Amino acid sequence: MEPFSLSLSEEQLELRAWVHEFAEKTVRPNAHEWDEREETPWPLIAEAAKIGLYSFDFLANAYADKTGLTLPIVLEEMCWGDAGITLSIFGSTLAVAGIMANGSPEQIGEWVPQCFGSADEPAVAAFCVTEPDAGSDVSSLRTRAVYNESDDSWTLNGTKTWITNGGISAIHVVVASVDASLGARGQASFVIPPGTPGLSMGQKFKKMGIRASHTAEVVLEDVKVPGRMLLGGRERLEERLARARSGKSSSVQAAMMTFEASRPLVGAQALGIARAAYEYALDYAKERRQFGRAIIENQGISFKLAEMATLIDAGRLLVHRAAWMVAQGQRLEHGEGSMAKLFGGETAVKVTEEAIQILGGYGYVRDYPVERWHRDAKIYTIFEGTSEIQRLIIARAISGLRLG
Ligand SMILES: Cc1cc2nc3c(=O)[nH]c(=O)nc-3n(C[C@H](O)[C@H](O)[C@H](O)COP(=O)(O)OP(=O)(O)OC[C@H]3O[C@@H](n4cnc5c(N)ncnc54)[C@H](O)[C@@H]3O)c2cc1C
Repeated sequence: MEPFSLSLSEEQLELRAWVHEFAEKTVRPNAHEWDEREETPWPLIAEAAKIGLYSFDFLANAYADKTGLTLPIVLEEMCWGDAGITLSIFGSTLAVAGIMANGSPEQIGEWVPQCFGSADEPAVAAFCVTEPDAGSDVSSLRTRAVYNESDDSWTLNGTKTWITNGGISAIHVVVASVDASLGARGQASFVIPPGTPGLSMGQKFKKMGIRASHTAEVVLEDVKVPGRMLLGGRERLEERLARARSGKSSSVQAAMMTFEASRPLVGAQALGIARAAYEYALDYAKERRQFGRAIIENQGISFKLAEMATLIDAGRLLVHRAAWMVAQGQRLEHGEGSMAKLFGGETAVKVTEEAIQILGGYGYVRDYPVERWHRDAKIYTIFEGTSEIQRLIIARAISGLRLG
């Protein structure tokens, strides 16, 4: 087991400096433009692919890190540059995680590299769970997958909503119900490969923040895929369904643990935005003079900055603890992953709001980046499980009760 340490290794410090340079020189200078354009920044995805930051190899190495800190470090630095662009570059990792968690080794080998495309022609991937009537309550999915015995195929019908990279992805991983009477225990994941007839993009959403990240509906109309697109295979699915029907313990618990394990990474992203705003506000408060002195010389301002710095450091400790536990194979029994995501998201909203306050009018206009950071921060209390759902998970974990 790796000892828990608060200091980063030489290798991790180098990695952080490398990603920081990319975030500073390539991501941040383009953030305003792509926020205004509200389009996927393909040239920047290509840049990330060219330097090897966006690739299957990079992600595989990051997952292999025994300390678990590689991805939190990378995502914090990238979101320090810009969260919308980061989600365009790293949004595919959700689909990749879905394939890795449920797929057979052959399926992982075949489909995960296709999520990234090549360095010359990068692709993206989407993980499609949420539906118009199934947000926090993912047990009530209406998208159905029906097995056709005659030609060993599946037919999917339904509508997914709020899907990052939805409709523009090479690979869509779709979670659908195969036995509605079993709720979440009757669901399965399917890979929908490029060019499959029946899959189309519905409405593209115009958002408050992370506008460089594409979010859209995905419509599935008689989408027919071969049997081998069911992640994990039919035999495993049938076993699982039989267990669920007989009332035995299910793999839903395992799926929940997979989500819990990815939550620290979401917290790390939120803290990257918070740090950007805090650093900007700190510099500004030292420069800006009113009443004959720098505004930081007022406790009303310096205490805000002290609080912002403390929240960010506390958030990072929660993120690193949970990520380290996941890498050690420890169970996050007290909701440590949810704590990291909850605290990271709430911190990003609070810190970016305080940064606006410190900049006064300059914080409120689009000529300065701080209002954008606040808009970007807000999504972190909503997606990947809202703050209320994180609190619910933590409350259940600490009490051992099925609280509602
Ligand atoms: C920009 C963006 C990108 C996204 N990307 C993806 C993606 O790639 N793939 C994907 O599948 N989904 C994605 N989502 C969906 C996202 O995960 C959902 O929006 C989120 O889970 C909340 O669901 P909802 O919007 O339906 O809200 P609801 O579930 O309807 O919640 C509404 C409110 O009720 C509260 N609430 C609900 N249940 C409870 C409860 N039991 N106790 C207390 N409060 C409760 C919620 O916390 C929230 O405040 C994305 C969303 C956005 C906005």
